[in-house]
Amino acid sequence: MRRAIFPGSFDPITLGHHDIISRGLELFDEVVVAIGVNANKKYMFSLEERMGFIEKAFKGKPNIKVVSYSGLTVDFCKEIEAGFILRGLRNPADFEFEKAIAHTNKVLTGIDTVFLLTASGTSFISSSIVRDVIRNGGDYTRLVPAAVRI
Ligand code: ADP
Repeated sequence: MRRAIFPGSFDPITLGHHDIISRGLELFDEVVVAIGVNANKKYMFSLEERMGFIEKAFKGKPNIKVVSYSGLTVDFCKEIEAGFILRGLRNPADFEFEKAIAHTNKVLTGIDTVFLLTASGTSFISSSIVRDVIRNGGDYTRLVPAAVRI
């Protein structure tokens, strides 16, 4: 079984994440969407809300699992026997940031990171911009899956 983990904060899940997960399912038998828990980070949505949005967005798809984890992503990969890390790339800044982490993970554990380039229609979307739109009463519904309703 080819299992990949798609780690992130998903605060909240956006159409960009949705695209990467859907396309990841073409490559892997199972995609585990893993919400990293960082005690020092402030989130707009609770862990339960973030998990709920993702579960609802992929309802009826048995090859997607939604879980939370803390600690190193590679340790969690070993725990759930995921051979790959899936990440999305939007721009050169994402690439530079992700490159160092992917190399570190590979050197430390041999786990490879598979990158999918963002779809052209969703490349501008980020959770932080969505949060800004929500905070200021804008129409966020065009940026997130229908499952995200506040
Ligand atoms: P993190 O806190 O790790 O950046 P995010 O929830 O912001 O977590 O993102 C998780 C993953 O989704 C990352 O690989 C990120 O590059 C990717 N991603 C975020 N937005 C988009 C988008 N619009 N298109 C493609 N990938 C995206």
